[in-house]
Amino acid sequence: MDLPDSFLADMSALLGEAESADLFAALQEKPLTSVRLNRLKCPPPTMLEEQMRVPWCESGYYVGLRPVFTFDPLFHAGCYYVQEASSMFVAHVVKHYVTAPVVTLDLCAAPGGKSTLLRSLLPEGSLLVANEVVRNRAQVLVENMTKWGHPDVVVTNSDPEAFHSLPAFFDVVLTDAPCSGEGMFRKEPAAVEEWSPENVKQCQERQRRIMTDVWPSLKPGGLLIYSTCTYNIKENEENVRWMCSELGAEPLPVPEVNPAWRITGSLLPPSEDMAMSGAGEGLPVYRFLPHKTQGEGFFLAVLRKPLGEEMHPTLNEGLPAVSRKGKREKMVRRAESPLSQEQLRQTKTWVKNAEQYDWTFAGNRLSLFPSAYSGQLQTLQSALQVLQAGVTVAEAKGRDFVPAHALAMSTVLSRDSFPSVETDYAQAVAYLRKEAIILSDAPRGILLLTYKGVPLGFVKNVGNRANNLYPQEWRIRSGHVQPEVNIL
Ligand code: SAM
Repeated sequence: MDLPDSFLADMSALLGEAESADLFAALQEKPLTSVRLNRLKCPPPTMLEEQMRVPWCESGYYVGLRPVFTFDPLFHAGCYYVQEASSMFVAHVVKHYVTAPVVTLDLCAAPGGKSTLLRSLLPEGSLLVANEVVRNRAQVLVENMTKWGHPDVVVTNSDPEAFHSLPAFFDVVLTDAPCSGEGMFRKEPAAVEEWSPENVKQCQERQRRIMTDVWPSLKPGGLLIYSTCTYNIKENEENVRWMCSELGAEPLPVPEVNPAWRITGSLLPPSEDMAMSGAGEGLPVYRFLPHKTQGEGFFLAVLRKPLGEEMHPTLNEGLPAVSRKGKREKMVRRAESPLSQEQLRQTKTWVKNAEQYDWTFAGNRLSLFPSAYSGQLQTLQSALQVLQAGVTVAEAKGRDFVPAHALAMSTVLSRDSFPSVETDYAQAVAYLRKEAIILSDAPRGILLLTYKGVPLGFVKNVGNRANNLYPQEWRIRSGHVQPEVNIL
């Protein structure tokens, strides 16, 4: 791979001749592959437990050669997410700084790596808003969040500017900013083609606009986690300094970072750092360089919004963060719903703890959303383009009312509500390709297909065949014949 001259010169100036040579050599090597498990779905024990764990993330594992994940049914069932190891450092930050329920925003969320991580790591009772400004990427985010299966998620498709209408709404904001992507050079060669000093400058300006837009929506005392996948000091340290001076942010160190992980600190001259950190120490920032740390290029800083008049006692103090007031809408809006009360009662039996949710019927879909956050949802709906909130439980199809695919993917599913049929590998892949399935000896009606005991989706068995209810737009399109893929 030919790296741009200007990039080589910048990195040599920053790291020195010897270290930059090590970095450039590492950039010519193959990227590492890693996955993060969805502990609420994984069938234990897993083969992966024998692989090397990502040291800063309890559910992250390096996998050897990159398998064809598309042909692993458990990948489509949301049992794991293929995520670059360095990014999983967000788990270490959350573990240390977020110990009580919070309202969290992932502002630049697609395809959903960090949102799925946040959703697994945030304390029980938290709400996650996963936002993506680019429409088609937001649809991929909906798919990945649906497969991850947690009910307390809202997916939105809004420009950062829209968050002005949500002053002091979030306890935690993660901004994984669009960047020049130097850390992706060895994983995505297109990133090398797109790189230029002008592009770096544009990225820096865009990142500042994004931070300015989202800052008012963070509560005083709340945390902003800023990350990029570039090594570039302009988009990293210079932006952290800018957030401190222009927005009044306070940089925070991340506790218990093991020196064995060989994470690199600030690359600013120490004197400038000391002025910024105010503590006589270097600016607390965390850079992952692939010749030192086992992962791709990544940068992260944690910043706190100073406490103003409005106190924010929740982070790390074990107090519930969320105002639970707000109008509750416990009932289905009957005027719009073709459901009889009996059908609704029946449908609620498909869900565990159905009484904890608001049930709404819109379009042809019946959905649930945690009642504890109904006030917040109304506020979000008035400010943002909400694509999905909670879980779609059922859909009207003609005269039928069938369980939705999202229900099969969700942790709210009451498994006993449907007869289950375990598939073998070939049947599972055929199902995911949305092919017709023949299930001899299975009962008629709606069945839950499982693979290795994990729900894959629903079929309607009519006897001579089973109608495949897998979402058309998510089907495996490749007709490639593949030997069984086993990751877990
Ligand atoms: N956090 C994601 C994950 O872990 O899977 C990756 C996010 S990627 C680094 C940055 C995202 O920012 C992209 O999805 C991109 O579409 C989005 N983006 C691009 N321009 C943006 C802008 N002006 N404001 C907000 N987001 C933007």
